[in-house]
Amino acid sequence: MTTKIERFLAERRPATPCLVVDLDVVAEAYRELKRLLPEAKVFYAVKANPEPAVVDRLLRQGCGFDTASLGEVDLCLARGARATHLSFGNTIKKERDIALAYARGVRLFAFDSEAELDKLARAAPGAQVFCRILVDCQGAEWPLSRKFGCAPEMAVSLLRRANELGLDSYGISFHVGSQQTDPRQWDPAVKQAARMFSVLAEVGVNLRMLNVGGGFPARYVSEVPELANYVTALRASLIRHFGNALPELVVEPGRSLVADAGVIESEVVLISRKDDKDARRWVYLDVGKFNGLAETMDESIKYRLRLTGEAADRRGGGGPVVLAGPTCDSADILYEKTSYTLPLSLRIGDKVQILSAGAYTASYASVGFNGFAPIQTYCI
Ligand SMILES: *Cc1c(COP(=O)(O)O)cnc(C)c1O
Repeated sequence: MTTKIERFLAERRPATPCLVVDLDVVAEAYRELKRLLPEAKVFYAVKANPEPAVVDRLLRQGCGFDTASLGEVDLCLARGARATHLSFGNTIKKERDIALAYARGVRLFAFDSEAELDKLARAAPGAQVFCRILVDCQGAEWPLSRKFGCAPEMAVSLLRRANELGLDSYGISFHVGSQQTDPRQWDPAVKQAARMFSVLAEVGVNLRMLNVGGGFPARYVSEVPELANYVTALRASLIRHFGNALPELVVEPGRSLVADAGVIESEVVLISRKDDKDARRWVYLDVGKFNGLAETMDESIKYRLRLTGEAADRRGGGGPVVLAGPTCDSADILYEKTSYTLPLSLRIGDKVQILSAGAYTASYASVGFNGFAPIQTYCI
């Protein structure tokens, strides 16, 4: 929560639920990352929050963009990004989208399979390509394992083949899982990548780039290490495994640049009990899984909550609650196994703020399930 967001909510009183993003916090997160890791090229993972104003602010600071679709490529270009500052980082692309991105000037593409490499060779001749390898995502609260990446041995043969196909075998990427709580999780992947660099160098394929993905955390309920700890661990790994032959370094943060910049304001719609003997109340908010809080799936991301105004001032203790959204789908329960507590004095109509909600919220909302509009975003 920032003074700017607090003032905006107090003065504008926007209809809820809404997401308010303080662009100064986004800018500061980017500056902090560049300060700690000046040698890295930063590609913001647009999917975390594709609001044009967010893209604009990062663009102004010199940030590049990791895009996953032609839609994201066009969004960044429309805001004024140079095509050469974009990476088409999804390993699953239609060949015609590759061709269209290439026609717009994009020259950097990810792949993790032979069939995707063949598409790239046909639709993006001569482009720089990097292969994503599998990692196990231990320690991540929102894992990205299994679906992306291939075994390192396969990556080695694909990167050889890329050169034979007339592409430029540029490097290796991995992602240790989103909201990664353990800074040591990068080390095994960096080690693996360094081995691949030398194996490929022996057969004349000179990789130059290592893309260590995103995964840096936001501040949810559990404490997480400082960004500086991640950077220290990463740099130590690079030196340990690459020695003096350090590769060009790319990072693709999404969550860590935008999450802490956003607050969702919601309203209590109903408070009830399922049985008179139940200690636990059910608290239904006007925001749920389908209009902003998709990452509560399996109760993976545990947001911090905050009460404001009169609701925060009332006296009395708290009691356990189940938190749920407003739609008529029973999957729309936010937290049932995770213990959350709210004041016993909580009333219908009170505002509940969901903190660090700037990433993977508004862009994950349904188009209007049950007639509930997608959450409105205000960038200030
Ligand atoms: C989603 C994604 C990111 C961003 O991950 P965060 O955990 O949000 O930092 C980076 N790279 C790729 C390829 C992604 O798919």
